[in-house]
Amino acid sequence: MKILLVEDEEGLIITLTDRLRSENFDVKTAADGEAGLSLALTESFDLIILDVMLPKKNGLDVCRDLRQKGISTPVLMLTARGETIDKVLGLKLGADDYLTKPFEVIELLARIEALLRRSPNTNYNSTEGFRFGDVSVDFKRAEVVKNNQMVELSAMEFKLLHFLIENRGAVHSRNKLLDEVWGYDAMPSTRTVDVHVAWLRQKLETNPRHPHFIQTVHGFGYKFKDE
Ligand code: CA
Repeated sequence: MKILLVEDEEGLIITLTDRLRSENFDVKTAADGEAGLSLALTESFDLIILDVMLPKKNGLDVCRDLRQKGISTPVLMLTARGETIDKVLGLKLGADDYLTKPFEVIELLARIEALLRRSPNTNYNSTEGFRFGDVSVDFKRAEVVKNNQMVELSAMEFKLLHFLIENRGAVHSRNKLLDEVWGYDAMPSTRTVDVHVAWLRQKLETNPRHPHFIQTVHGFGYKFKDE
């Protein structure tokens, strides 16, 4: 995940860069608006953290220019306390979120995470996690959250869900799912697949009787909804 930090306060640049790098983000910095804009136009980033008060070109103008040039990278604006007008204007000009200084770094990380999850631009959905409806799946931690609440899944349910998401759009027969998820050595019946699918739907679908995401393909098997 590549982040562009456009900020002119040296202390903040150092603190944020260190912290973001320790969270495994690839960070580039620019200390004024013009430098930030030109970096954002020449390289691709997953997220831009943009201060409002910047030398040469302010953050609001940078954000507007980016959107006018068709760059849809998520922008998180940093505003100073009391700059309410900037916040409103920033959102109007195409910023995705804002944070008021001074802020806790943990708060910034939470906002970044939320923006990356929401963003269709990033590869968040294929490597680390996946979102569908009000459900978000963290593959690394094997955690599933629905409506901000943890969902308890068995290891097999999680494995099945992971496989379906990774191969979404494709139709899988029950036998294929048994091979891929349960493994060749296991000898459960195809009925096992149906039961696990039913459990997943019960836990994750808004209306398990009319599943939206984990779909039945009659006469063949199952597929995860293709976006
Ligand atoms: Ca500033």
